[in-house]
Amino acid sequence: MYYAYMRFHIITIFPEMFDSYLKESIIGRAIKDKKISIKFYNPMDFCEPKRRVDDRPYGGGPGMVLRPELFLEAYAAAVKNFSRVLGRGSAKSARKTSHNLRNVKIILFSPSGKKFDTAYAKKSARKYTDIILISGRYEGIDMRVQKILRAEEISIGDYVLTGGELPAMVLIDSISRQIPGVLGKYESLEEERVSSSEVYTRPEVLKYKNKNYRVPKVLLSGNHKKIEEWKKR
Ligand code: SAH
Repeated sequence: MYYAYMRFHIITIFPEMFDSYLKESIIGRAIKDKKISIKFYNPMDFCEPKRRVDDRPYGGGPGMVLRPELFLEAYAAAVKNFSRVLGRGSAKSARKTSHNLRNVKIILFSPSGKKFDTAYAKKSARKYTDIILISGRYEGIDMRVQKILRAEEISIGDYVLTGGELPAMVLIDSISRQIPGVLGKYESLEEERVSSSEVYTRPEVLKYKNKNYRVPKVLLSGNHKKIEEWKKR
């Protein structure tokens, strides 16, 4: 069962980083077509005047740690937002019941989290209407946020980035293309057909520095069975 739409709620101290990526191409069109929606909640907005969004780590160490209260405030703002959309009563009752909302997923990015993949993207597109993505920076977010929200820690790969904003965009991109209607043709989903990463378009013969580079003959043959076999090879 697909819901045919997805609301992403991003908790980040750098929302502007998302602007151009989400505006363009397929994701931009999906937002315009209301197949997906993306909302931002900035912990900075809840920061007291003259205080910082981060603080020194207990136990010492070089990096700064993002303060838990501000991320919990941002989370509450997100819950308030989708409980209104879902029409499940007041923000207060929503806060109490948010853990029990079957269709809501809370993800917190961490390089040591569970590894994200296509299977996870497919499952998420089917199961949820709302996904809350929490992006860290610096040394990360105070661990109590993960505990309190029972958020799932997700990694996009075995490398350390400077923040969780790229990971959030990776999830939004790969989950969105699983939502029916987001890709122009449903068959564009690799999983639904035989696909190949070796692709060609015109010209049939590309001249480059006195050499000719040809498109594989089989692709010009019009023989669909042979073409499928070539792609599978
Ligand atoms: N010292 C921290 C690293 C913090 S990196 C540690 O060992 O966990 C800062 C932030 O970037 C993290 O809070 C996380 O949100 C994000 N991040 C970095 N690498 C990531 C990865 N591979 N996958 C997902 N998020 C990542």
